[in-house]
Amino acid sequence: MKVLFATPEFAPWVKTGGLGDMAASLAPALRSLGIDLRVLLPCYPALQKAFPDAPLVAQLAGLGGELPDAALRAAVSADGVPLLLLDHPDFYRRPGGPYLAPNGRDWIDNHLRFGLLSRVAAWLGSPACTLDWRCDIVHSNDWQTALAPAYLHYLAPEGARSVLTLHNLAFQGLFEQATLPQLGLPDAAWQIDGVEFYDRLSFLKGGLQFADRITTVSPTYAQEIQTKAHGMGLDGLLRKRHDVLSGILNGIDTAAWNPAEDRFLVERYDLRRLESKAANKAALQKEMGLDIRADLPLFGVVSRLTEQKGLDLLAQLADRLVDLPAQLVALGSGDADMELDFAEIARCHPGHIACVIGFDEALAHRIEAGADIFVMPSRFEPCGLNQMYSLRYGTPPVVRATGGLADTVIDCNQTTLGEDRANGFVFNRATTEDLGDALRRAAETWRKPELWQRLQRQGMTAEFGWQESANRYAAIYRALVARRD
Ligand code: ADP
Repeated sequence: MKVLFATPEFAPWVKTGGLGDMAASLAPALRSLGIDLRVLLPCYPALQKAFPDAPLVAQLAGLGGELPDAALRAAVSADGVPLLLLDHPDFYRRPGGPYLAPNGRDWIDNHLRFGLLSRVAAWLGSPACTLDWRCDIVHSNDWQTALAPAYLHYLAPEGARSVLTLHNLAFQGLFEQATLPQLGLPDAAWQIDGVEFYDRLSFLKGGLQFADRITTVSPTYAQEIQTKAHGMGLDGLLRKRHDVLSGILNGIDTAAWNPAEDRFLVERYDLRRLESKAANKAALQKEMGLDIRADLPLFGVVSRLTEQKGLDLLAQLADRLVDLPAQLVALGSGDADMELDFAEIARCHPGHIACVIGFDEALAHRIEAGADIFVMPSRFEPCGLNQMYSLRYGTPPVVRATGGLADTVIDCNQTTLGEDRANGFVFNRATTEDLGDALRRAAETWRKPELWQRLQRQGMTAEFGWQESANRYAAIYRALVARRD
């Protein structure tokens, strides 16, 4: 069984969020199950730099519409995953991010950049493929590769079967109608059962319409997106396709996120050496210019600073948090307004609140280890990785009951403590009242060392690897291939 995993992100080379991590850890896990899986992704500058001599394996021409000629190059990742790098320098070798220009706006040709990626994914599963490796399944991820099932449907119906994984329904890839012929899609695709979505062309809808199976990254999110409140206009279609929709919780990279071996920490630790966590806390307080206080709980945040993440609520609670008393360290970047708000609360509470605006992998590790309590008040959260990292680092999280947060964090209360299941703090409404109450409960519980260690133990001994989830993806692949045979 040959599987093409098509993705716009792959850590460590390109990552703006959870998808980059997921792709990089799921791919080797699936290969270790004996699946002949290759990863298709654009040859961004970081990949060009990492694999300057990647050999050419195919020249692509005549892909339709205004899709340009391109090349495929072959490389292999450090953990043995074969990569197919889609090379079109004009599209992918640019300064700036994978989606945004340096001015912070979407690249104006994103429809063609990711239309090409989707089209080539479909090509690799179609009779036109000239490689000696043609896939049986195209596994797309998010809107950037979501047109692949639509291309297969319209251009190669006898080609590969398709799976689409939704990592975040908020990003849909919406473009003007004029892009339809540019993308080489037939006029017939412009209909409500095609790629049309309220007079615009939706990459994501194209995928949801035509993928043989749809998955999303947690069971609770799979339910939530079928409701009006969380469906972002696509809930009707998702309800219609509920029989092929399922939620598979992301695992984490347990090698990269392991406090016992984390090279970014001043002292490594595990459940038997929890006292070393205190050294990481002191080092973090020092690094961030906070008062070095072992007697105060230190809350930590690592996040995109956007409405989704609910951190505006936390910023509003800054005074109350300091009065608990407690400290806060936050690392994040995103919406300009929210960045300013976080800079402002740090300015108002020197010694107690510190914020770094930016993206810093090493500091993210030091916060997971050095903080006492992690905070993720998301309004919605398809899966979320940081709450799992924090559980593993003995840093119980405070989360809102949504998506993957609801599937991984168990609130500390009489019942769950009695059953020895509690591992963090969960609140329901996205309000300052509910978040404030959960922060207070967490700070109070932190002051009871025996109870706190029970929470830490639950998190640090839980299984967050990819084994089980990889098995579930493999089962989906097998079922799809078996149905065709
Ligand atoms: P999302 O994909 O919605 O951004 P996730 O929790 O699923 O949220 O994944 C976010 C990933 O990106 C995690 O690995 C997290 O540590 C990382 N991350 C987010 N913001 C930053 C930042 N400012 N610096 C370093 N890492 C970050």
